[in-house]
Amino acid sequence: MISVEEALERILAEIMPLDMVQVPLAESLGHVLAQEVIAQEDMPPFANSAMDGFALLSKDSQSRGGQPPRLRVTGGVAAGYVADHAVTGGTAMRIMTGAPVPPGADSVIQVELTRSDDPQSEWVEILEEVAPGNNIRPAGEDMQRGQTILARGSEIGPWEIGILATLGWATVPVIRRPHVAILGTGDEVIDVDEPLQPGKIRNSNSYLLEAAVRRAGAVPHRLGVARDTVESLREKFTEAMQSDLIITSGGVSVGDFDLVKNIMTEQGTINFWRINMRPGKPVAFGHIGKVPLLGLPGNPVSAAVTFELFGRPVIRKMSGHTRLLRPQIEVVVEDGVSDRAMRRHYVRARVEWRDGRYFAHTTGNQGSNIMTSLLNANALVIVPEGGVEVHPEDTAKAMMLEWPEV
Ligand code: AMP
Ligand code: MG
Repeated sequence: MISVEEALERILAEIMPLDMVQVPLAESLGHVLAQEVIAQEDMPPFANSAMDGFALLSKDSQSRGGQPPRLRVTGGVAAGYVADHAVTGGTAMRIMTGAPVPPGADSVIQVELTRSDDPQSEWVEILEEVAPGNNIRPAGEDMQRGQTILARGSEIGPWEIGILATLGWATVPVIRRPHVAILGTGDEVIDVDEPLQPGKIRNSNSYLLEAAVRRAGAVPHRLGVARDTVESLREKFTEAMQSDLIITSGGVSVGDFDLVKNIMTEQGTINFWRINMRPGKPVAFGHIGKVPLLGLPGNPVSAAVTFELFGRPVIRKMSGHTRLLRPQIEVVVEDGVSDRAMRRHYVRARVEWRDGRYFAHTTGNQGSNIMTSLLNANALVIVPEGGVEVHPEDTAKAMMLEWPEV
């Protein structure tokens, strides 16, 4: 049995980022940039006004003899248009926010600091002195032509999409999303819309994993459930090999019907098949042909937790991310962890921020078949291997799965 860290290292060593594809800008959300983004233009592309007001020569705003200067208004320039003449001494031009500053003007005074008889008036009084550059946003103030704006490997969020749009990237080079085949196993497992029969249970794992895979940024393909026969598994694996990653649940422990390992030996390689942890000791990793296979345990909680620990980082690495792991914080375990385990224990818990600290409250019965222990859990409290005891109010590390809104 290997440690969680060694398992993760051995898995990730076999996983490489996938190839680049071009996607339309609006579909790039959540992808990782495959190339750096260099500005091909200045942003803003031209000097423009930050205010509605008047473009003028700043020296014309100086009052003489205590009287506000009066300037002749020669026209106006709206956003989206260019002035057809220059501003000269003793004159001003109406200007709107975002409009290009007309030639000759070196400043803009906001309308609130001026007085006119009416909005179309030919004269404007300047009520305050302004400095050169006042209310002018120079070309290239935000981004300069030739400047690297987004690094390769950046995750594309809404703000990056705004930047890509302003730089004219209608399509974006990204790492493509992994396609993940999800396969259930077991003669006892029936589909969600089938009535329960003696000895049967519904397939919760495939649906749980499908959602978790999608949330991790990959494209899930749920391939149903293989029977506990070599033939049935072989048939499903043939289909699964079209994908970038195969995730199975069940069939990897030491029981007579644990056939996933047999197929891996027959059609590929097994890297390991047991990890010193709970829930989820029987995790197998290897390849079917060239396709990596992560064999998760059948117990639903074990499948959920081991997907978080191993499946999600694999998907993130394939997707081009360099930060693969959930953040860990120190928490006060209010109720402690009652059972001592020799294996590393990942305890489902609710973490909350209170009085300047994080407090964890475990979610009840931690049996690997108790799906309700996943409810309300936003973290996994990590109890080290070796039978370490966590008493109430002890501190421990917790892996945060979600940061709750407040
Ligand atoms: P196994 O690893 O195949 O021995 O399965 C371990 C436990 O998980 C057994 O109680 C199975 O019935 C259960 N199990 C296996 N696959 C699923 C599934 N897809 N959905 C829900 N429970 C499952
Ligand atoms: Mg089974």
